[in-house]
Amino acid sequence: MRVLRSPAAMTAWSRAIQREGARVGFVPTMGALHEGHLALIRRARLTCDAVVVSIFVNPTQFGQREDYARYPRPFRRDSRLCREAGIDVLFAPSVATMYPAGFQTVVAVPEVAKRWEGAQRPQHFSGVATVVAKLFGIVRPDVSIFGQKDYQQICVIQRLVADLDLGTAIVIHPTVREADGLALSSRNAYLTERQRRTAPLLYRALQAGAASIRRGVSSGALVRQTMVRVIRKEPLIAIDYLAVCDPATLEPLHRIDRKTVLLGAVRIGEAHTAGTIRTVRLIDNLLVARNAAHRDG
Ligand code: AMP
Repeated sequence: MRVLRSPAAMTAWSRAIQREGARVGFVPTMGALHEGHLALIRRARLTCDAVVVSIFVNPTQFGQREDYARYPRPFRRDSRLCREAGIDVLFAPSVATMYPAGFQTVVAVPEVAKRWEGAQRPQHFSGVATVVAKLFGIVRPDVSIFGQKDYQQICVIQRLVADLDLGTAIVIHPTVREADGLALSSRNAYLTERQRRTAPLLYRALQAGAASIRRGVSSGALVRQTMVRVIRKEPLIAIDYLAVCDPATLEPLHRIDRKTVLLGAVRIGEAHTAGTIRTVRLIDNLLVARNAAHRDG
């Protein structure tokens, strides 16, 4: 496995191997790798001849009050995991290399980004779209693998690739979860023991919403209410949003007459806060196909 730090070296490597006919698979990450990232890497190895993983904690996708400074950066461990996973190149540029003096281009995908995560985190998706466009330009992947865990991010990236003809296929890999349903995330490391015990409730709320759809409930508002009720049982959790949406446009669905995506984001607080313990924000989603028996109900 090679560790490359320079965009020029990365592009040269991809071009050379593609000239030999190899298909390059790409898994962009912010590091602090877990089993979810490793599943994406395995998927890339199955689909492609060579695999590139990038580790870059992108400052422009964090809000001013977010966790950019404290985001975990266990580079030696990440690098070992990548080597063990059998990747070909670990691309790990510095912030100064990615954003040299004079950098000013911003890529925006405003319609897809305007709701949910985008409403909670202004500039987040333009930060993501810009860095992903840049990474695609550097790595030139034939196939890029993303996790369903960040559902709206996938919608943004699919739009970006289609609109700008970026020439990479996008593969979506299902969310990898802990045994109790909590979606794996680098940010789970922030959870205290008490918060960790509470965290699976977000997935349970989404599951309750999915179950009501499968039972034939066709009102988006009722399904949302079911999810809200599950979360409200736990006073430590505040809801950022819980939504019943069209999986392509992410518009809220009033009437559930098609495949649906349930989106959720919550903040988990801590009992007896002394003023120093921060809340931890979690996001998750579930895709639900309607039960055929209820198709017209
Ligand atoms: P991140 O390092 O959080 O930016 O994530 C890098 C990639 O890993 C993104 O495509 C994420 O959607 C994906 N990912 C993160 N967590 C999971 C998970 N639990 N299951 C599957 N993919 C994930």
